[in-house]
Amino acid sequence: MAQRSPDVVKKMADLLRAGATMLSERCPVCGLPLFRLRSGEVVCPVHGRVYIVRDESEVSRVTVQGVLEELEKVVATRISESLEAAKRGEPRARELSEWLDVLERTERILSMIRRAQAQGEVEKSNVENSERGARKRQ
Ligand SMILES: [Zn+2]
Repeated sequence: MAQRSPDVVKKMADLLRAGATMLSERCPVCGLPLFRLRSGEVVCPVHGRVYIVRDESEVSRVTVQGVLEELEKVVATRISESLEAAKRGEPRARELSEWLDVLERTERILSMIRRAQAQGEVEKSNVENSERGARKRQ
């Protein structure tokens, strides 16, 4: 599955020249060896920064969590904007209620993921369902 085009080989050489260390772990996406930069960041020559994960279910969990945490920030901004508009006398009750709804769902899924992480195991189907739900709401 690994693509070893001249570009990738050059990128790997560049990483090594820059003082990066080649790791025994491989990129979960393309299977290329990962590199640890001097900064401590772990990167794939193709995909850039990656999280080291143990198995496939953990890959999707990391992704879902990242998306949801991003969504959480966006929603917080929107709620604060709606609130400001309401203070100026513009009625935004419906919008506010919709964003609060999104926030509630986001928080619920995130707490589910965090709880699963604490327990160290999660049913893969749960994560996949949450992922679909989160995308639909965006
Ligand atoms: Zn990769």
